[in-house]
Amino acid sequence: MKVYNVAIDGPAGAGKSTVARMAAKELGFVYVDTGAMYRALALAFFRRGIKPEEKERVLEVLPEFNVNIAYQDGEQIVFLNGEDVTSLLRTQEIGNLASDFAPLAPVRKKLRSLQQELAARTSVVMDGRDIGTIVLPEAEVKIFLTADAKVRATRRFKELCERGVSCDEGEILKEILARDLQDEQRENSPLTRAEDAILVDASSLSAKEVAEKIVELVKERCAL
Ligand code: C5P
Repeated sequence: MKVYNVAIDGPAGAGKSTVARMAAKELGFVYVDTGAMYRALALAFFRRGIKPEEKERVLEVLPEFNVNIAYQDGEQIVFLNGEDVTSLLRTQEIGNLASDFAPLAPVRKKLRSLQQELAARTSVVMDGRDIGTIVLPEAEVKIFLTADAKVRATRRFKELCERGVSCDEGEILKEILARDLQDEQRENSPLTRAEDAILVDASSLSAKEVAEKIVELVKERCAL
């Protein structure tokens, strides 16, 4: 059976995961959240007390870490060496730490293989930073999803408040800007728009509207 790939890249808090999940559900594709994989590895290094600048130690222990994903009621579950770590990954701290480890080439290589294997087996909507450029350069549809930084910070603030996490909106904005800069300026697979990616500014669009747009594009291009 023909497999189709949809790549969604963009900065932190643009709503990629919400939109990707909705579009995948509508299309009957599998949603792959690659940020969660980087977060799981960051958690693994953190637990072992290893810092991103300790490159030799990173290289030494990396083969000991196994990241796997599975699906439960359509939701992605992330396993780190067999342990379900999904509920530990969605914090600002782990997001920032993931961005600190993400520039390291061996870390990227390990996760890229896993991501490419998944996309070769089944139709996916995959979100991240380098999906349209490096991981799935042949994806049928590529979206670069962005939104004004303040809008992104407010969304993230509300999301954390809803989950009962105490946080400061100004701090979140600062962290989002710092993380974007670090992701854009790294040498390996920087966050950048693929030449053939469609730019979508979600500042004044709802997640539903963006997801509908993506579904339409996929149906047009993939003869579904
Ligand atoms: O998307 P999310 O906020 O979960 O990603 C956390 C961090 O993981 C990003 O800031 C980025 O540094 C890294 N990442 C990446 N490449 C991806 C997905 C995430 O470098 N494909």
